[in-house]
Amino acid sequence: MTERTVPSRVRPVPAASSDPRPGVAGVEPTELAGLLAEMGEPAFRARQVGDAVWRSEAPSWDAVTTLGLPLRAGLAERLRFDTVAETDLRLADDDATEKALHRLPDGRLVESVLMHYPARGERRERNTLCISSQAGCAVGCPFCATGELGFERDLDVAEIVDQVRHARRRLVSRGRHLTNLVFMGMGEPLLNLDAVIGAARVLTDADRFGLGARHLTISTSGVVPGIERLTALSPQWTLAVSLHAARDALRDLLVPLNRRWPVRAVVAAAAGYAAATGRRVSYEYVMIDGLNDTPADADALARLLAGSGSHVNCIPMNPVAHTPWQASTPERIDAFAGRLRAAGLGVTIRRNRGQEVGAACGQLAAEKSAEPAAVAVARRRERLVAASRAALAGERSQEPAPPGLPAGSQGPVIAQTAPRAAARPIARPDRRPAAGRQLPGLPQRRTR
Ligand code: SF4
Repeated sequence: MTERTVPSRVRPVPAASSDPRPGVAGVEPTELAGLLAEMGEPAFRARQVGDAVWRSEAPSWDAVTTLGLPLRAGLAERLRFDTVAETDLRLADDDATEKALHRLPDGRLVESVLMHYPARGERRERNTLCISSQAGCAVGCPFCATGELGFERDLDVAEIVDQVRHARRRLVSRGRHLTNLVFMGMGEPLLNLDAVIGAARVLTDADRFGLGARHLTISTSGVVPGIERLTALSPQWTLAVSLHAARDALRDLLVPLNRRWPVRAVVAAAAGYAAATGRRVSYEYVMIDGLNDTPADADALARLLAGSGSHVNCIPMNPVAHTPWQASTPERIDAFAGRLRAAGLGVTIRRNRGQEVGAACGQLAAEKSAEPAAVAVARRRERLVAASRAALAGERSQEPAPPGLPAGSQGPVIAQTAPRAAARPIARPDRRPAAGRQLPGLPQRRTR
């Protein structure tokens, strides 16, 4: 493939926020204590303010009645109590899935999804929140609505944490509490790692949000230097890697970061994280009919992860507009998972939640975007069909990796000027086009 799959949507650029106040959720306790001292308040006020932010369900400074009016007014002048305002809230799955579209101070939109899992047998009730780390995303995975939107900006610590505070308020009003948190919403968390680490520390600090560290998961599409940085911190957070393909040619298409950090480098870095932390890494695998769900794909994945002790989550692709692909059928997912299990891997088949409310990453924000012209959609589909054909033939992408990636360790990048033949991977047993059904617009594939 030679053409770049560019985002085909254009989001209206909101007016810049004129509000320079930082969000209180991102202010360190020592900074808060210093600010209160400057305001002439006694030392114990820091604890009172902390309780208002972390222990009460108050939505604004006005509602914090444990503080006097003058202090509330003084704090409101300096700090935002909340950096996000819910502009859209949708329920699905008999109210078990709740999608929130949050508007940030500058008008950017980000999403969070709250999923309720009732107690079953020995298993306790779970309430899992999926949050965003960036507005938009630079990685550009073509099956993802956020990837199609393109990158807008990083979120700061308070903007990340406030998504969680919003969800907690809604949960508490129903007599529930948050049990799990995953950074799997809009954005690539490891491309905004300072803020993500800052937010994770706030959220797992017993004196602030207080979530158990082992209940927090950070996902990545494969930013190797970011995984190495996390490894050096050796936290108890879970690492999830969005893999989606075990062969580089296919992963170059599905996860464009792979052009910079190939799949083996990503898995090696994740193994380093598991070794340093003792935490099992989970691999996410979006299942696309006829593209990455064949027996050969399952075998390649089993070989890649053999002996790693990791777990694979098979997730049917969410219906996303503007792609030529569709989700794998339940039968194909079962067969794929069975092959992985037979090879000794732990596997869970996930079901899609909240499809009727656009719960997949970026879908609500995409709804608010300008619909691309029909001609742009048709061109995008054509490009993806051509790229699929090349990937299934084992050809690695000639396109550059997404811009704006950090410096640091990297895998063997394909020279952009290299002839196509030189860019092909070293022959491996799994390089044969895999068996499977024909993709729309693709030639019939050879079977094993
Ligand atoms: S799947 Fe994740 S990394 Fe890929 S474009 Fe979407 S948000 Fe970004």
